[in-house]
Amino acid sequence: MPARVVICGGGVIGAAIAYELARRGTPPVIVESDGVASGASGAAAGILTPPPPGTEADALDALRRLGFDGHARLADSLPVESGIDYGYQHTPRLVLATTPLEERALRETAAALAAAGHDARWLPAHEVRALTGWVDRGASGGVQVEPSAQVDPYRYTLALVTAAERRGATVRSGRVEGLVRDGGRVTGVRVSGAVLPADAAVIAMGPWSADAARWLGLPVPVEPLKGQIVKVRPPHALPAFSFGHGGNYAITKERGLVYLGTTEERVGFDRSTTPEAREAILAWGLGFASVLERAELVEQTACLRPLSADGMPIMGAVPGVGGAFLATGHGRQGILMSPATGRALADLVLDGRTDCLDLAPFDPARFLRGGR
Ligand SMILES: Cc1cc2nc3c(=O)[nH]c(=O)nc-3n(C[C@H](O)[C@H](O)[C@H](O)COP(=O)(O)OP(=O)(O)OC[C@H]3O[C@@H](n4cnc5c(N)ncnc54)[C@H](O)[C@@H]3O)c2cc1C
Repeated sequence: MPARVVICGGGVIGAAIAYELARRGTPPVIVESDGVASGASGAAAGILTPPPPGTEADALDALRRLGFDGHARLADSLPVESGIDYGYQHTPRLVLATTPLEERALRETAAALAAAGHDARWLPAHEVRALTGWVDRGASGGVQVEPSAQVDPYRYTLALVTAAERRGATVRSGRVEGLVRDGGRVTGVRVSGAVLPADAAVIAMGPWSADAARWLGLPVPVEPLKGQIVKVRPPHALPAFSFGHGGNYAITKERGLVYLGTTEERVGFDRSTTPEAREAILAWGLGFASVLERAELVEQTACLRPLSADGMPIMGAVPGVGGAFLATGHGRQGILMSPATGRALADLVLDGRTDCLDLAPFDPARFLRGGR
């Protein structure tokens, strides 16, 4: 069992793994080049959407479900352990339809869920309006699905790191520049010109994890996918609700805010906000909720999701480099999937295996020609 573990990257994924390692008695060193949660982990919407019921056989949905359930468990203990309330709460959720085609698909989904014993049915527009109190135009109706939950992702990541620190983990400021190996095993991590001794290293550097390809001798096909969010404050606090249509969403947040998102932009590591994205996101929100016409624009943010070449997270041991692990590529749902990733990776680092999840579909070796 490795005694000295270095987590490369202080985003939500590195933080969740560090927390689980510390909880299991092996507090790691987290190396972060900017600030904890300074990337997507601090600027995400923080929506925790469970997968549709009945999809447990799908590897990604199993990871999502384990993440969703893990958040519910963490919400009982992590705020106390860390002293940080990160705003975990359940929030009712609607999926909306605007065209006859979308309506038909949603009606079929609702019927299938109802037949499987779930409480789901098609709600015509007037019922959507009555239920939400503020979704009053644009949609022919919608389906209320299992409630999503939400967190403030910045405070959640800080809570994970703080709780890990309280169990002996440390955060080191510096840039990971490579690994030191001896006889095919990791013996250290190069950090800003110095070597940090290590028996195991976990690369959790979000979209920057691609840098590790040359240290590991393995393709790490992960790229930044920029997303922008617009935060507005309506004239009065709205009933708690989230709704989605296509890839976009709106969700009520703390302090009377509503977050509206988002974009998917392949523009490299550019993290600037753009007026075009702001206009498009606001127009989308206004299409469904007239109250937003009177909302104050509070903030616009942009951050970079780590997107893998096949859309699946890259999680597991690095073939041929003992003690090296990858945990990245969580795309649009890394906050949701973090508790499950933390558990699985801590198991893998400490025991060489995990029972909580089938990690085979996420194996980093899948990008080698012919696989492992
Ligand atoms: C607009 C938007 C909205 C989102 N909304 C949601 C949502 O509602 N729900 C959800 O589940 N997910 C959401 N996500 C996705 C989620 O934010 C990401 O999947 C998640 O934050 C990725 O976490 P990470 O730790 O892998 O990466 P990051 O947060 O990018 O963290 C990686 C860290 O590594 C550090 N680093 C990089 N290189 C080095 C180096 N060489 N040395 C040391 N440190 C280094 C970086 O500084 C960074 O802090 C959203 C993303 C965006 C962009």
